[in-house]
Amino acid sequence: MPSPVGHSLAAIAVGWAVNRPAGPRRALVAQTATLAAIGIAPDLDLLWGHHEAQTHSVGAALVVAAIVAWRRWPIGADTRARLFVAAFLVYLIHPVMDAFAIDNNPPIGVMLWWPFSHAYVHSSHAFFAPISRYWSRPETWPNNFMAAAHEILWLAPFVALAWFARTLKRQRGKGPKRQ
Ligand SMILES: [Zn+2]
Repeated sequence: MPSPVGHSLAAIAVGWAVNRPAGPRRALVAQTATLAAIGIAPDLDLLWGHHEAQTHSVGAALVVAAIVAWRRWPIGADTRARLFVAAFLVYLIHPVMDAFAIDNNPPIGVMLWWPFSHAYVHSSHAFFAPISRYWSRPETWPNNFMAAAHEILWLAPFVALAWFARTLKRQRGKGPKRQ
């Protein structure tokens, strides 16, 4: 599985691609933090030792999207429908990334289609290196650092692209009207 850094960056990129970055600095900080929190939320299942199962699924994404839309979490959308769609995609990018990561801990993959299927989905094309949770081993720290650096290199351009595409569109929208 990728690190929280990679999951956060992917969630922010998807969130900004769907809804433009919020304007004032406080709103932007709240939006970015909320997107990152949704992006890493599936891995809360590590707390109860049932990793990459139901929380890494379409079903969980639907539940989280419903909560975000109901409670109107600050992710930059103005309607409940847009909040729902954005939160669903932001949450779902996490299990999709995990499915495209090297996985050394059986069961391999994620329970992506739960509750419609309990099968674990994993791609043979791995883009992301695995993060080790054996923190007492000396090799864990450099390995995880390199994996996180690799994620930043891959994902930061998408975050920048989403930011510039959205802010550019907003500036054009505010531009002077033609005579
Ligand atoms: Zn995960």
